[in-house]
Amino acid sequence: MRFLTTLIITLVLAVPAAAGDIEFDDYFTEGCLRVDLYHTGTAESETYAVDELIREPHWGGNPKRLFDTMNLGSHIMRVYDLETNREIFSRGYCSIFSEWATTDEAIEGIPRTFHETLLMPMPKRPVQIRIDRRDRKNIFRNVYDLVVNPADYHIMTETRFSRFRVRSIENNGSSANKVDIAILADGYDKDEIHKLRDDVKRFMKVFFDTEPYASRRRDFNVKLIESISAESGVDNPRKSVYRNNLLGLSFNSLELDRYMLSLSNKTIKDVAAKVPYDIIILLANEEKYGGGGIFNLYATCISDNEHDGYIFTHEFGHAFAGLADEYYSSEVAYNEMYPRGIEPWEPNITALLDPENIKWGDMIEEGTPVPTPDDSLHTDVVGCFEGAGYSAEGLYRPYHTCRMFEKGLVDFCPVCRKAIEDMIDFHTR
Ligand SMILES: [Zn+2]
Repeated sequence: MRFLTTLIITLVLAVPAAAGDIEFDDYFTEGCLRVDLYHTGTAESETYAVDELIREPHWGGNPKRLFDTMNLGSHIMRVYDLETNREIFSRGYCSIFSEWATTDEAIEGIPRTFHETLLMPMPKRPVQIRIDRRDRKNIFRNVYDLVVNPADYHIMTETRFSRFRVRSIENNGSSANKVDIAILADGYDKDEIHKLRDDVKRFMKVFFDTEPYASRRRDFNVKLIESISAESGVDNPRKSVYRNNLLGLSFNSLELDRYMLSLSNKTIKDVAAKVPYDIIILLANEEKYGGGGIFNLYATCISDNEHDGYIFTHEFGHAFAGLADEYYSSEVAYNEMYPRGIEPWEPNITALLDPENIKWGDMIEEGTPVPTPDDSLHTDVVGCFEGAGYSAEGLYRPYHTCRMFEKGLVDFCPVCRKAIEDMIDFHTR
C-alpha cells in the first residue's frame, strides 16, 4: 500500500510542468511590455524589424490566463523565460499583413510594410519572444525571434496623448477578470464630442441588446477615449478624399471599398495605452457603409449608417472571438483566403474534411443530415450548410443564418454564440 502511494506521487511529479503552473507574480510585474515591429514582405516572404520597445502602465489581460487555450488566429506569440527556457505567456492573433498576403499585389511580389505591436504583461527577467505564423496548410512556422531584457534602458516609458479624456461607459470591476473594451474615436473634431458620446451610447445599447453580450453584460468594462481629430471624417480614396483624422481610418482597405482599416497602428496603440484593454474598437465619424475586424487587433465601424449596429457587432465578432465571415456572395479582396482541403482555424466555418469530427459536432442533433440542406425544414437546426467564408462551395457554416452571415440584426447562430461565450470565459474566469 505504501509502495503504491509512493508510486502515484512519483508519477504525478514526473509529469512535465504544465502551462498552468506558471504564477504571474513569479515572472511578471505590473504594466505592459509593448514591442512595436515593422513587418515587411510579399506573399512568399516576410521579415520583422524592431521599431520601439515601450513599457506601458496597463496590461488589460487576466493574470490567470497567461496561456492561449483558444488556438485561434493566423499567428501566435510565445514568450519564454530566458534563464529557465520555460514558456510563460502566449497569445494568438491576426495581422493585416496576413490578409494582404492573399491580395494580387502581394502575389505579384510587390513588398509592403505594416506596423504591428506585441503586448504582454511586463516580464521581470529577460525573455525570448517568438512569433509563429500558420502556413497555407495551417501549420505554425517560426517567423521571428527577439530577446528583450526588461532592464534595458532603451525601453521607453513616456506617455503620449495624455490630453485626451477617458469616459467610463460601463464599469463592472477590475480589468483583471473583465473583457475590457477600449473605444477610440476617429474623424470626430473638437466640436463633435457630444456627437461622439451619443454615438457610443447608441452602439453600446445595440451591443448589450445582442446575445450573448446581453446575458454577459457584467463581464464587460467599456471605456471611451475621446481622441479628437483635426478634421471631421475619415479617408475615402476612391473619391480622392483624404482627411487629417488622428487614427488613420480609411475606406478601400486592400482595394475593397467597404473595407475600413487603419494602418496607423502606432498612433492607435499610443492612444489606447491610456486604459487597460483587451480589445479595441475604432469608431469612424462617417455615414458611408464600412467596417472591418481583425482578431486580437481591432474592430472598426462607421457611426451614421442604417446598418451601423449590424457592422459594430459583426466586426466585433471577428476582432474578439476570431469568427469568420459566413457569407459567400459579396466581393472580397482576397485570393483563396481559405485554401482547398485545409480546415480553417475559425470556430464557425468548416471544410468538412472529416464529417465524423466536425468542430461543432456536439451541437448537431442526431439525425440531422450533414451536409445540411438549406431548406424550410432546417431553418433552426445546427448542421453544416454549404456556402461560407467567401466561397459558395467547399466551406460550410453552422446555421441557416447568423450575424456573421446576413446583413442585419439577426441573432448570432448557436455556434458563434458559443464561440463568443468561450472567449468571454477566457477573459473572465
Ligand atoms: Zn454564426
